[in-house]
Amino acid sequence: MNRKTALAAAVAAALTLGTAALATSQNVAQASAAAQPGAGFQAMSTIGRQAALDQAGKEAAETAKALGLGPDERLVAKDVLVENDGARHVRYDRTYRGLPVVGGDLVVHRAKNGKLTSTTWAHDGALKVAGATPKLSTQDASKAAERSAKHVKQARTTNLDSSQLVVWAVGKVPVLAYRSTVTGAGEAGANTREAVLVDAASGAVLDQYEVNPEISGTGNGVNVGQVTLETSQGGSGYTLTDALHGSTVVYDSYNSPQSNPAQNARTFSKSTNSWGNGSTSSRESAAVDASYGLGKTWDYYKNTFNRSGIRNDGRGAPAYVHVDNQLLNAFYDDSCFCMSFGDGSSQNGNTPLTALDVSGHEMSHGVTAATANLNYSGESGGLNEATSDIFGTMVEFYANNTTDPGDYYIGEKLHMGNGYLRRMDNPAADGNSLSCYSSRAGQVDVHYSSGIGNHFFYLTAEGTGAKTIGGLPHNGTPCNGDTFSGIGKDKAAAIWYRALSTYMTSTTNYSSARTATLQAAADLYGANSQERYIVSKAWAAVSLGTALPDPGGSTSSPSPSPSGSPTGNPNPGNALTNGDFEQGATGWTQSANDITNSNQQTPHGGSWYAWMMGYGSAATETLSQNNIAVPATGSPKLTFWLKVTTQETGSTAYDTLKVNLNGTTVATYSNANAGAGYVQKTVDLSAYRGQTVNLQFAGQEDAYLSTLFLIDDVSVG
Ligand SMILES: [Zn+2]
Repeated sequence: MNRKTALAAAVAAALTLGTAALATSQNVAQASAAAQPGAGFQAMSTIGRQAALDQAGKEAAETAKALGLGPDERLVAKDVLVENDGARHVRYDRTYRGLPVVGGDLVVHRAKNGKLTSTTWAHDGALKVAGATPKLSTQDASKAAERSAKHVKQARTTNLDSSQLVVWAVGKVPVLAYRSTVTGAGEAGANTREAVLVDAASGAVLDQYEVNPEISGTGNGVNVGQVTLETSQGGSGYTLTDALHGSTVVYDSYNSPQSNPAQNARTFSKSTNSWGNGSTSSRESAAVDASYGLGKTWDYYKNTFNRSGIRNDGRGAPAYVHVDNQLLNAFYDDSCFCMSFGDGSSQNGNTPLTALDVSGHEMSHGVTAATANLNYSGESGGLNEATSDIFGTMVEFYANNTTDPGDYYIGEKLHMGNGYLRRMDNPAADGNSLSCYSSRAGQVDVHYSSGIGNHFFYLTAEGTGAKTIGGLPHNGTPCNGDTFSGIGKDKAAAIWYRALSTYMTSTTNYSSARTATLQAAADLYGANSQERYIVSKAWAAVSLGTALPDPGGSTSSPSPSPSGSPTGNPNPGNALTNGDFEQGATGWTQSANDITNSNQQTPHGGSWYAWMMGYGSAATETLSQNNIAVPATGSPKLTFWLKVTTQETGSTAYDTLKVNLNGTTVATYSNANAGAGYVQKTVDLSAYRGQTVNLQFAGQEDAYLSTLFLIDDVSVG
């Protein structure tokens, strides 16, 4: 759960030229320096709170030990309050064998010197849970929940996966329970939701209550017009917290300096769920732009590349509007994992820098930081900026907003003197940006060298020549006089994303970006594809390299691509059904609910994986699949990714995971294989050529100390 925080001060990647704020890394004391009258607690910025939470996370294991919790229990830091004298109150949630514990929360009180002074428990002491596996299936639990619903009529479980196994520790004796969410007509309309907790052994109802649905409000932004917003209910009214998109919060920075946009920040909250008035006379209008734009950016990455948020961890980054004064800029800062938007200046009619393509641009800086992490200077800096312009543009197309239709201009809504910040079809038209590669590329500002990458992208997507796109004139202007048609923006974006996330690093320059995109195009569409050929022509058209030979024919259909790529068959040549578990339990038989998308552990790819064992007491489990046709030719193999974590020490195998084929053990792993990450395992299946086999993973634990075996991306081929 501990997230690595940026140690050094990171350069904030900005939208325009000018002073990019240098954010210092903050510690708890610094961040909570400004005392506020109130309940005696220090005022804490978002950054300071995150630092305090990170610290509490680091202390979680030793705290659990000091409190006498059992080996299966973990503490997850949830909130921290700091007294004016430095004493801390840390609120933890608890998990048991990775399951959330309802009623397991506690508050640890620490003196200024860190000494644990007392604890406030929801359920005193260590948990003793009877029965490690549920007797009821998730389906049984869902049915029981539907039958027992009180707040909704004609209840239906929205999907069976919504039955989540938890430990119910509200009563004296903790028990395993299922928490199901059922939906039906009720107080909150046709889709009223109700949570029902049933005992996982007896099916008895333990608790039931209505769940606040996600709430849609309406907004009227400066740049985005009338839109629907995802908001949350809080206090007596609503807040701009987008529960559908990683709980992204948009704050009013209240003109805090750009070096610390959180300094004077306030939440937007009000009694009605209607925000902004379409002009800057309401402080909410710019926040509507940002909330909408960041939600659309999230959706673009999720629905196009299956990426959940900037760091692909489902967590939204906070955003600040009304940052500084007369700030004609916006930026992303990885050290605070946050975004800042200025209000513009007299130079642009004081139009806030919250246009859709700007929101997409800033959030994409976060994606770059989480992937290639291209250095923000020299040619890599230009590629970093180009990446943000490319995906900011793609977000604008994706949102399909009539107030701001898609085009290849950046910031065309911002009332700049010449009508835009940058143009991708003809970068040099702004008088500064580079349209063509030259040895100067590494010397000019990154917002000018980005022109080469932007131009490449435009030509790849749209080709050469004049077009009207989104009501604006565009003109693909190659540096070598070539003429060709593009492959479309979606394919061009898939190539760029794959290159960025797979083949670029912090030092990638334009020449290696060319290589990276050619490789990505080969992966996605084939080495002899028209797509890869056009990529090479577009690079040549911005003066990088020479075009590949024409493969002939027209645009190809996608060829099979490696697992995890954005398009194509995710797992070609795999004789297994649902080897990556992304379809849940489909195709598999399991003795316990091992196939999971729980965020308590990490998948190797996608969001689902199999979590076997981890009891810390004598137990067995199996996970199997029948009727697997082993290829009759070649050297067939079973491959899978395995991550082992254990409380055991030494090389003696106390807890084991066996791989059985038709009942014969062909490989054995144990606590002795424990390591930090997933490792790919390969089992030779030559002896099974042409046969239909049963594959079984069988786990066994001894009486003491737990070992977890995580399995993902299983393949036979
Ligand atoms: Zn930027």
